[in-house]
Amino acid sequence: MESDRITTLDLPHDGRLLTCAKTIESAMKAGTTADVRRACAEFLAATSEFYRTAPCGVRVLAARPLRVREHWATELFGDYHPQSMLIRVWMRTAVRKEVTSFGTFPSTLCHEFCHHLDFQRFGFPDSWHTRGFFERTAAFYHHARGTPPKRLFWVPVAGGRWRIDWPRTNSTGGRA
Ligand SMILES: [Zn+2]
Repeated sequence: MESDRITTLDLPHDGRLLTCAKTIESAMKAGTTADVRRACAEFLAATSEFYRTAPCGVRVLAARPLRVREHWATELFGDYHPQSMLIRVWMRTAVRKEVTSFGTFPSTLCHEFCHHLDFQRFGFPDSWHTRGFFERTAAFYHHARGTPPKRLFWVPVAGGRWRIDWPRTNSTGGRA
């Protein structure tokens, strides 16, 4: 499957995404939800411009809605709707009201944006959580955060799918 085979992603050669990600970080620390939303919108405007995709909308919610629309892209901290090209991310989970950590929030935003890329840049008919998808997402995320990419290790799961072996991935620090 093409989604599984494409494991790299073109990345900007400048620090524009890092600058936007830092703005999100300071908005999360000191700003309002509206500040965070504005920073996310700037981040997504920069990414959509770089990848020449249709712009991607974003809604930042204080807490995860209790009724999350039932569709394929529902995640724990965000979702993406392909028809409306809208990402939703939430600052807190509904049940325990935990604040989404700063590491998780941009990771969710990057993950959801990569679903957007699957449809709008690669033209896939759907967006699957393949190994290629997670490799592309990791490359994009580490670029945006200015952190070194890690080598991902995989564990096969039922149905011919794969999940990331996080203990092994983290213990090698990305070195194999
Ligand atoms: Zn996803």
